[in-house]
Amino acid sequence: MPSVLRRAVCIHGHFYQPPRESPWTGRIERQESAGDYHDWNERIAAECYAPNTEARIMGPNGQVLKRINNYGLISFNFGPTLMMWLEKENPAAYAKIIAADRESSRRLKGHGNAIAQAFVHLILPLADPRDQRTVLYWGILDFKRRFGRDPEALWLPETACDDQVLSLLIDFKMKYVILSPSQAERVRPLKNQGPWWNVSDGSIDPKKPYRWFDPRSLRKRFIDIFFYDGPISAAISFEKLMSDSKVCADRIVQAFGGEESDGLVSMATDGELYGHHHKFAEMGLAYLLSEEFPRRKIEVVNYGYFLSKNPPLWEVQIKSGPQGLGTSWSCSHGVGRWFLDCGCGSEGKSQRWRTPLRQALNTLKARLDEATLEKGEGLFQDVWAARNDYGEVISGGVSQLPDSFIQRHLLKKSSLDIKRALHLMEMQKFALYMFTSCGWFFSDIAGLEAVQNLKYARRAIELAQEISGQNLEPEFLEIIAQAPGNDPKFPDGLAVYQDLARK
Ligand SMILES: [Zn+2]
Repeated sequence: MPSVLRRAVCIHGHFYQPPRESPWTGRIERQESAGDYHDWNERIAAECYAPNTEARIMGPNGQVLKRINNYGLISFNFGPTLMMWLEKENPAAYAKIIAADRESSRRLKGHGNAIAQAFVHLILPLADPRDQRTVLYWGILDFKRRFGRDPEALWLPETACDDQVLSLLIDFKMKYVILSPSQAERVRPLKNQGPWWNVSDGSIDPKKPYRWFDPRSLRKRFIDIFFYDGPISAAISFEKLMSDSKVCADRIVQAFGGEESDGLVSMATDGELYGHHHKFAEMGLAYLLSEEFPRRKIEVVNYGYFLSKNPPLWEVQIKSGPQGLGTSWSCSHGVGRWFLDCGCGSEGKSQRWRTPLRQALNTLKARLDEATLEKGEGLFQDVWAARNDYGEVISGGVSQLPDSFIQRHLLKKSSLDIKRALHLMEMQKFALYMFTSCGWFFSDIAGLEAVQNLKYARRAIELAQEISGQNLEPEFLEIIAQAPGNDPKFPDGLAVYQDLARK
């Protein structure tokens, strides 16, 4: 089948911040490290999220020629909890992001630029299947509410996946997913199912989509995969390639490989790069997309649109990763970064705290689930179905259980029952939030992000005590005390929990 799109380009931005609100007040406390701003959300919104809605194209004399809404020209996903914050704190930028998706959908025949994200940014292969299902369900529900349409794809936190996670995306009717080229194992032509070709060294051709079949389904169930261009994405992220749009465009043209070659060159990076990590990169991005590519007759598209014109001709299998735990885009040890002292993100410090932190939270989660089952039985028709629907309450920023939820899920409807049901749902919410991947990503357990996870744990423990009368804290403290820290002021996880992870 000939490609309808000869040369196309797509840049994906993953826009995300971990939730920073206090689980007690729902407000973000002042974060000193954010400098002149109240907190990091505010700072990054001012440097990146908002400027990308009106990136300037400058004339030769420094005059502003026009302003480009970059979200209309890139593929993007926003963390749902970040969207909740933007909706409240920067409604103007928020509205322009939603509008950009509508506009792109008109331009690209029903394929909008936005894709969904798992509601909680946790490492999916390390979560149990019920929790995987819930955070995907919540993410899709949140997306529909905001963008007013079904998502075609979902961004996997840290692109972390294994066969089980991809299979779940198929359950949720996702058409495609974006992965790192390092996650591909082998490929073969779809037609005739010829011999496999090993691409485990990262040598997969990223210019075309691939079809992945669920190994448990006899080729009946599938999802398509785009692997972004690794070297160019890395150059944009770490070598400031976006400083010069012309140089960037030339580099991308080279990636097509010769005059006769065609396909899609796609890049994926953190969205915060454009303006926050890399100052003024939002202007470079705007110029690249609105001037350099059109001049070179390269079409600016998104993945969904490209896929509609160019269905896969190749099949792929993905790596199972060390111990079969899956792989990701920011750890060369599979998903080790989120539970092991693997060396990624160490900044010369020890990360021996990562395993005990994971163990402490896993043990706590098992206890919280036991309490949920035990106490949920008398309150809910089906406590796990209720948890799924609770996503709507969270996404809507509502602090009470709505009538529709009460009618649908509660067995008894006294005000005490309703209050207990709400507390149980909140406990489950924090039990998922406490696995936010950023808690393990950086170098020390006393960092903001790990502390935030521990605050969620503390709040979940409090709610469990209220609901079941059980004190889960001593067991938790015993394990977290085994997490050695790097800061002499906070020598272990216990000190971090006691001194930093409080109201
Ligand atoms: Zn690693």
